[in-house]
Amino acid sequence: MEPVKAMTQYPSRVVIEEQGLRDGLQSEKTIVPTAKKLELIDALVDAGVRRVQVTSFVNPGLIPQMADAEELCAGLKERADVIYSALVLNARGIERAAAAGLKHVSASISVSDNHSRKNANVSLVEARSRFADMIKIGKKRGLTIGGGLQCVFGCRFEGAIDPEVVFDIVKEQLDQGVDEITLADSTGMASPHSVQEICARVVELANGTTVVLHLHDTEGKGLANVLAALPAGVNHFDTTFGGMGGCPFIKGASGNIATEDLVWMLSQMGIDTGVDAVKVAAISRSLESFFNKQFSGKMHRLLARDDIQFLR
Ligand code: ZN
Repeated sequence: MEPVKAMTQYPSRVVIEEQGLRDGLQSEKTIVPTAKKLELIDALVDAGVRRVQVTSFVNPGLIPQMADAEELCAGLKERADVIYSALVLNARGIERAAAAGLKHVSASISVSDNHSRKNANVSLVEARSRFADMIKIGKKRGLTIGGGLQCVFGCRFEGAIDPEVVFDIVKEQLDQGVDEITLADSTGMASPHSVQEICARVVELANGTTVVLHLHDTEGKGLANVLAALPAGVNHFDTTFGGMGGCPFIKGASGNIATEDLVWMLSQMGIDTGVDAVKVAAISRSLESFFNKQFSGKMHRLLARDDIQFLR
């Protein structure tokens, strides 16, 4: 195992995809009105975010928060420099996303057979074959498709995941023609060591195709894992405002890495994201009041204060 390389090995620019509207809101029972979601999206774009996952096309009976997916997409402002994406779980979701006018969708399968059966009701073998069909449908509809793998760094049911299975599925999805590939630490079990090891190999396999890291801060290693991923060649990350979101496996656990926390740290390292952490922090605070709860991120509370100093 090689140690994390020097500062000079870090990229000068990192791309962030805001997933608060999806990964953050999906676990909330209080329904956010469509108009408010559209305001949030506008505010994120105003803050410099250029990739926003706006919703998921899932069974509204299962996730009522996402029941307005079509209406929301109809209200999006067309902007050539912004990618609006949605999460899809099956062929029906892809058809709905395409009909709603989206140009990019994200789809992923769990690399844990156990988790796949419990979460998606299919074996890993079945999920892999269904995924191939989804890609074909998406391509036919002219969409760009982000493929992906969940539970890459560990599963709360199965424990360790064999990296060879991860690499095998990565290769399979690349062969199927995904436009980028996301490695998700759905459970927050990744460590800087495993991130570095797995990302380095996946970046090599991807051979120029964008590799995205989706990190949850469940065990408090979120930003440490970002630092391990950067020298391995990953410079795309999924985040949520305020670190909103949870963990389907652990009640009350913290959510994704927070957009403003990541932006803040990277800017202090001289790495540009194009995102204004102060503006994102204001969005997070407005949502904390809306839900009347505290999010697990850090900077959204600190950046509200003008009585203390910050190092920029
Ligand atoms: Zn997630």
